[in-house]
Amino acid sequence: MRILLSNDDGIDAPGLAALYHAVSDLGAVTVAAPDSPQSAAGHGITLKSPLTVRRLRASDHAGGFDGIRVDGRPADCVRLAIRSLMPEPPQLVLSGINRGANVGINIFYSGTVAAAAEAAMLGYPAVAFSVRSGEGEIDWPTVARRCRAVLDRLLPAMKPAELVNVNIPSLAQGPPRGVHVVPQSTAGLTDTYLRHIDEEGTERFRLADEYGFVRREPDTDVVSLSEGFITVTPLHVDMTDGRRLRALRELNWPALP
Ligand code: MN
Repeated sequence: MRILLSNDDGIDAPGLAALYHAVSDLGAVTVAAPDSPQSAAGHGITLKSPLTVRRLRASDHAGGFDGIRVDGRPADCVRLAIRSLMPEPPQLVLSGINRGANVGINIFYSGTVAAAAEAAMLGYPAVAFSVRSGEGEIDWPTVARRCRAVLDRLLPAMKPAELVNVNIPSLAQGPPRGVHVVPQSTAGLTDTYLRHIDEEGTERFRLADEYGFVRREPDTDVVSLSEGFITVTPLHVDMTDGRRLRALRELNWPALP
């Protein structure tokens, strides 16, 4: 199987190397990932400047894989790899393992999910993996083993252009309590900005690290993950609201001026 692997934490991130080594026996893995951390890059792509590509040898870095370093966004890496870097298109695209959960509306900010979504938009089955970060260092081999177990179950069921978002609970919560296949929560964030005025009087706002969700929606990714379950959420790239489509069509649309 031809696998394309990317992420948003950058090509030097331990989560990427862990996922690489957890899936490398499945086939030929091409790694194309950002050269710098791109968390919260969302689905941005690079329009106006060329993308610089540097080939990375397994022997030359701690990750221990051949890879391609791209000075772009996660979605750039996947697009470019599929269009121009891989001799043949992938049969599966993986993204992660992201340091930090990607559940609820954070999915919109996530470069990890965007990399997988880009692949789905191009017609390939894609899975995004993230781990909720708790206290202390992440035991990446353990997290990667859990991702692989989920992937082994998913793979036979995956369809072309299918996008699946997987989150692994924090290791501080003990072994996962099971797997929940759940929808995405749409609860808003309770984040805050910290205001600071420097000596020259310039006003600055910095997003605080701590945040929560405005409500706990039962049977969603946010709640299941917080309760220690692995969450599996199939996502749409089609953002159309089907119910509102009908309602808006029924508005009395005037002839265009
Ligand atoms: Mn990230």
